[in-house]
Amino acid sequence: MVGPPPASWAVRPEAARGAEVAPGVWRLRLPLPWTHTPHVNAFALARDDGGITLVDCGTAGDPSCWDALVAALLEAGFSVGDVRLLVLTHYHSDHAGQAARLVEETGCEVAGHPAHAHFTDATLRPWEIAAARERRARLEGVPEHELSTYCTVREEVEGVLAAVLPDRALRDGDTVASAAGPWEVLETPGHAPSHLCLHQRDTSVLITGDLLAPAFHPYFDYGYTPDPVAETRGSLRRVSELGPLEHVLPGHGRPIADLAGALATWEHGLDDAVASVAAALRDVPAGAYETMVRVFGAQEDPELATWVLAQVLGYLRHLRLRDEIERTVAPDGRFRYAVRAESAMRS
Ligand SMILES: [Zn+2]
Repeated sequence: MVGPPPASWAVRPEAARGAEVAPGVWRLRLPLPWTHTPHVNAFALARDDGGITLVDCGTAGDPSCWDALVAALLEAGFSVGDVRLLVLTHYHSDHAGQAARLVEETGCEVAGHPAHAHFTDATLRPWEIAAARERRARLEGVPEHELSTYCTVREEVEGVLAAVLPDRALRDGDTVASAAGPWEVLETPGHAPSHLCLHQRDTSVLITGDLLAPAFHPYFDYGYTPDPVAETRGSLRRVSELGPLEHVLPGHGRPIADLAGALATWEHGLDDAVASVAAALRDVPAGAYETMVRVFGAQEDPELATWVLAQVLGYLRHLRLRDEIERTVAPDGRFRYAVRAESAMRS
């Protein structure tokens, strides 16, 4: 997941946990500073050389975040020095935040999907990206007094120690070795262009990252791929085609016991959200901000506001590509989305 920055990045290291959840796989539950997402899961995979591969590494932003990672590893029976390879399910602060320190302290390699610009652009060129976000927010009708909420790059600047680019690019079908056997990489974009899942066939384990959770909490990194909603649907379909799985391990929360149920929840959740956004534009066209207010209500909580607007932009883009709505520029220079006449007649 990704979220705007909290007031403080400090976490309670004593809330970290480390326990084996599948053969040769330890879940490291790392506390997060976000109210709505209190933990992220990293995973330690046993290796044949006696070390571990770490999948994700938690947020940065405060020294206590590192202490939490150390504590979780310790509870699982490991230390930071055991890490030989860091694999990133995707480039968001809660998954990749501490990569730079891990590399510095262990010399480990970093493996991840090469399409990381959706996050690293803002880490590397914060002012340019903040300015681009401000332009877009204005075009979508965000009120002037709320602009700062929607243009922030604090997550990409404060939530990671540095932009750590992958030493090894992971693409679909690549494998990551472990003591339990090879983990196959599945490219699963939607939540983020750099998103991937890891599948271990012999032990029937899937690490899902933020593609899936028991409840429907979508987020789309908008603007770097053609259609994040369709990409999410495609990624969910790929997971469903893996068949029943023994262990399904998401990036947040407990292992998913009912994979089919979670997949259905997400598919229906996307259908409902897309339909709600289209319905909200049926009578009166609006920009993305106004559409968001109509469908999801005014966002009082800045931790959720950018999250919800990014979702709405994803749904609008999806509807435009399906020719159900069109975007025009209003006399005030802002975007307006309207249901296409032919589409309205069909419904
Ligand atoms: Zn996440």
